[in-house]
Amino acid sequence: MCIFCKIINKEIPSYCIYEDDLVMAFLDISQVTKGHTLVIPKKHYKNFLECDNETLSHLMNIAQSLANMLTEKLHAKGMNILTNVNEVAGQTVDHFHVHLIPRYNKEDACIIQFNESEKQDFDDLTRLLKVEKKIN
Ligand code: 5GP
Ligand code: ZN
Repeated sequence: MCIFCKIINKEIPSYCIYEDDLVMAFLDISQVTKGHTLVIPKKHYKNFLECDNETLSHLMNIAQSLANMLTEKLHAKGMNILTNVNEVAGQTVDHFHVHLIPRYNKEDACIIQFNESEKQDFDDLTRLLKVEKKIN
């Protein structure tokens, strides 16, 4: 059983701040910033890409509510809301989770950097990626 499933089953203690039938939110053990929270589905999905639609919709709604609550109670000035998919993207726990990382200033311990890589052909890329049909 994965470490987050054990947290859901209360086999491992956590600082839970929200729980319902489908999701649970608890403080991340490594508080990148004050209030750093993880929102997870109670059912085990490996990552964002594998989560079922209903659970994902509910989880994102809860994540938004909690992000607003954290902002208000902790007087955060902003928030990074992110989820890592697979090891290459930094996923270390293979149970889908959304990070809520309140931000207080640009110099705090949360460093997310977008560097430019090689130049891309935007026409080629758009031709390849364009989705013609409406999704859903
Ligand atoms: P990832 O790198 O997979 O996106 O994030 C995993 C997160 O889980 C990390 O930020 C890490 O600090 C957190 N984490 C790992 N083990 C535990 C644990 O046992 N309890 C809590 N509360 N957080 C954990
Ligand atoms: Zn799990």
